[in-house]
Amino acid sequence: MAIQRTFSIIKPDATERNLTGAVNAVIEKAGLRIIGQRRIQMTRAQAERFYDVHKERPFFGELVDFMTSGPVVVQVLEGENAVKAYRDVMGATNPADAEEGTIRKLYAKSIGENSVHGSDSEENAAIEIRQFFSEADIAG
Ligand code: ATP
Ligand code: MG
Repeated sequence: MAIQRTFSIIKPDATERNLTGAVNAVIEKAGLRIIGQRRIQMTRAQAERFYDVHKERPFFGELVDFMTSGPVVVQVLEGENAVKAYRDVMGATNPADAEEGTIRKLYAKSIGENSVHGSDSEENAAIEIRQFFSEADIAG
C-alpha cells in the first residue's frame, strides 16, 4: 500500500480540554506522521465551505456553530494507507459505537462533539488539505 496524505481536524471540544497533545500521541502511535499543523479559529465561511456536503442535513447549523465555537488544530497526516489508517484510529462517528483505544472512544463527548475529523477518501483529502494548507507549510 502506498504512502498517502490525509487531512485531520482536532475539533473545539478537544482543544477546549487541552487534548491536542493527547490526540497527537494516539495519531503518532498509529504510525501516522504529522507533516503539517496549525491552530486556527475557523470562520463561519470556512466551516460552511468545509462541510458543504452536509448542508442539507438537519445538524448542519449546529455543526457550523460547534466548529466555530473555539480554536481547532488543522493537520496533514502522512503514512501507509493514511486515509483508512486515520479513520480506523479515529473510531466511529458516535463515540458510543467506537472501538476501545480509538480517539473518539477515549475523548469524544457526543456524536456532534466528537473530537476529530478525518478525510473519507484520498480525493477529499487533497481537496481539504488545499483548503487549509499551502505546500510551503507541509514538510513530509
Ligand atoms: P468527520 O467528517 O468529522 O470526520 P464522520 O465522517 O465520522 O466525521 P460525517 O457523517 O461526515 O461523520 O459527519 C460530519 C460531522 O457532523 C461528524 O463528525 C459530527 O461532528 C457531525 N454529525 C454527524 N452526525 C450528526 C448528528 N446526528 N448530530 C449532530 N452532529 C452530527
Ligand atoms: Mg465525514
